[in-house]
Amino acid sequence: MNMKIKEYWNDFLSLIYPNLCLGCDDPLPQGSKYICPKCHYNLPKTNTHALERHTFQEKFMGLVPFSHVLVYAYFIKNGIMQHVLHALKYNDNQEIGIMLGRWYGHDLLLGGYADAFDAIVPVPLHPKKQEIRGYNQAYCFALGLSEVLKTPVVEHGLIRTKHIDSQTKKGKVNRILDVEGIFEVQEIDRLKDKRVLLVDDVLTTGSTLVACATPLLALPCQALSVAVMAGVK
Ligand SMILES: [Zn+2]
Repeated sequence: MNMKIKEYWNDFLSLIYPNLCLGCDDPLPQGSKYICPKCHYNLPKTNTHALERHTFQEKFMGLVPFSHVLVYAYFIKNGIMQHVLHALKYNDNQEIGIMLGRWYGHDLLLGGYADAFDAIVPVPLHPKKQEIRGYNQAYCFALGLSEVLKTPVVEHGLIRTKHIDSQTKKGKVNRILDVEGIFEVQEIDRLKDKRVLLVDDVLTTGSTLVACATPLLALPCQALSVAVMAGVK
């Protein structure tokens, strides 16, 4: 089936049968929501929290000295994380973000990150997008992480100062230059000299995270790390 049609078909199915797994389309067993136990077990996790070096760090080399670059799972075309993020962003399923935050929070706890951060800051959506969607998916992820790691979310720690148009056709270097200066730090007292965890949904080029890091590092914060739900290799 054509991909676009399959996507619409899946959206349609999820309206009639809301209890199908986002990964395998099988009916969910009782007690499971969105993802069945088998797909949960088989999530393409990156294990970045346990690795000294990994490919996602390389995206920021020479740009931002992140203490930790934490990526929950790989974003693979037509893979489970693509379906999960689609459902989170477009089907008003805020709970999915919270659930992933909780799952990753538990992995981080087991990995020795129990007392690694003082504040969690979601990457802000553009206000127009947030108005249409009704929520910021990065904030949902932050809530789940916060609950497990017992670390407060500073929801408006960063705000967008100006909008930039579609960047999809530009090269990586241009994109990094373009987004500079579009984020501003708020609630400085809660972030200055603190160990800040910046969170977003997907890591692709990393340009948005670089732009967010600049004003946070200038505070300065004591240490800056980043956590995302999914990363494109
Ligand atoms: Zn499944």
